[in-house]
Amino acid sequence: MRGAPLELRSPSAPDIVFEEQSASTDDVDRSVSLASTAAKASGWAACGPRDRAQVLHRWADLVDAHLEEIATLEALLGSRPYHEATARDVRVVGMALRLFAAYAETHESAVTATPHRQLSYTRDMPYGVVAAIAPWNFPLILSAWKFAPALAAGNAVVLKPSEMTPFSILRVAELGVEAGLPEGLFNILPGDGGTGQALVRHPGVDTVSFTGSTATGALVMAEAAAHGLKPVSLELGGKGAQLVFADADNLDHVADLIVRGITYNSGQVCFAGSRLIVQAPVRDKLLARIEQRMDRLVAGPTWQEVSLPPIISPAQLARIEQIVATALSQGAKLLRGGEPLADAERRCFFQPTILQSADVDNVAYREEIFGPVLLLDTFERFEEGIAKANHPDFGLAASVYTSNLNAALAAADQLDSGTIWINHWGRAADMTSPFGGVRRSGFGKDMGRAGYQKYLKTKSVWVERADLQ
Ligand code: NAD
Repeated sequence: MRGAPLELRSPSAPDIVFEEQSASTDDVDRSVSLASTAAKASGWAACGPRDRAQVLHRWADLVDAHLEEIATLEALLGSRPYHEATARDVRVVGMALRLFAAYAETHESAVTATPHRQLSYTRDMPYGVVAAIAPWNFPLILSAWKFAPALAAGNAVVLKPSEMTPFSILRVAELGVEAGLPEGLFNILPGDGGTGQALVRHPGVDTVSFTGSTATGALVMAEAAAHGLKPVSLELGGKGAQLVFADADNLDHVADLIVRGITYNSGQVCFAGSRLIVQAPVRDKLLARIEQRMDRLVAGPTWQEVSLPPIISPAQLARIEQIVATALSQGAKLLRGGEPLADAERRCFFQPTILQSADVDNVAYREEIFGPVLLLDTFERFEEGIAKANHPDFGLAASVYTSNLNAALAAADQLDSGTIWINHWGRAADMTSPFGGVRRSGFGKDMGRAGYQKYLKTKSVWVERADLQ
């Protein structure tokens, strides 16, 4: 049986079109069975972690050596500019492989506190076959956050990239085989939501690691529960707050981070700082600085050095436009932008936009927009700022800007969010810090020790010593 037709269209040059086919349910069957056989027959799980680490290091070196080729594939179909992909996205793949190789080599289990005639220890075992499902906004980085720890922990992986951006990860997987990864252990299944659903349902899949929208995450969780009660981890959407106190140091730097927080990748970032909540005395000074910086942004295709890359598809552009129009009809005030950027070559961009007075019932406040649209609000007192920063639904990441250490630490305690940045916005390249949300932003962590441990299941072994005769 054939899978659904797939049209891959570059948002940077809509005339570049590839016609492909989604992986069918037969392909899903074949991949899962290959992965399951490889996990058992290759000895990958049972071999010493140092042997696995050697392969992962060789793989990381090969990825680094093919930096430009992989970055080109990343920039071809998605929104990631080539200059950013070479500086960061491709490098993150190598870094993830090396970091999780180190975690595998240094991972320890426990001997528990029993009387001497008993020995109780735990052993962390790989699950078997991990289904990893990734979105389109950072195809390489978000895939690497999953396959690197899952493979390092001794699992086989079947990864379904977004139907819009499968190319770069296919090349990375080929390099894995060249590095010595047993064949069949890591499979890529390009395809749409139907392919993803068949993968989650497959009886040979032991656990599911998903990154994508909150709505799809809920479907994945329901399917995983109905088809084998598989453990799932869900990295979902966000509605990040940027909470700026009047005593924040260096408003120029704060403005840089606020603008980066909502326009990086044209706002197509799960942890985008999409809600600016600023203490009233510095509102005007900060807003002026933000506007100056937004004026300097350059829109263009991913192969130029742009700061405002394309919106991924005409459908997503129309969605952003629609949310902004509805927000205005519901009482929000437009301070700047609000329109798609015209482009003779039919490329999709959206103007950096600021909306004010979007109250809690406003669509722009409730929905993750996934575009360069910043909501502006003000506060007077600390408690009011915290109350406004805590979103009723999402809790992925939030930033706090203040020079008062006590206020910063109190805010970090009181913000209900998986990540808090103090005087900062954005993930550093360092992957030792775990990342993941709360409430409708999901559960489970990627990266850090927690992002390794989630690919292992803990077994308790109890040994009873008999008395010597
Ligand atoms: P999406 O939910 O539409 O798709 C994500 C992936 O799920 C794709 O590969 C898609 O094909 C697949 N899919 C769709 N339907 C499925 C189903 N029924 N069963 C299984 N798989 C299915 O999301 P998107 O538009 O690709 O990505 C944007 C979203 O991802 C945003 O909401 C963003 O916030 C979120 N995201 C979250 C993080 C994080 O770390 N929390 C990181 C990046 C993106």
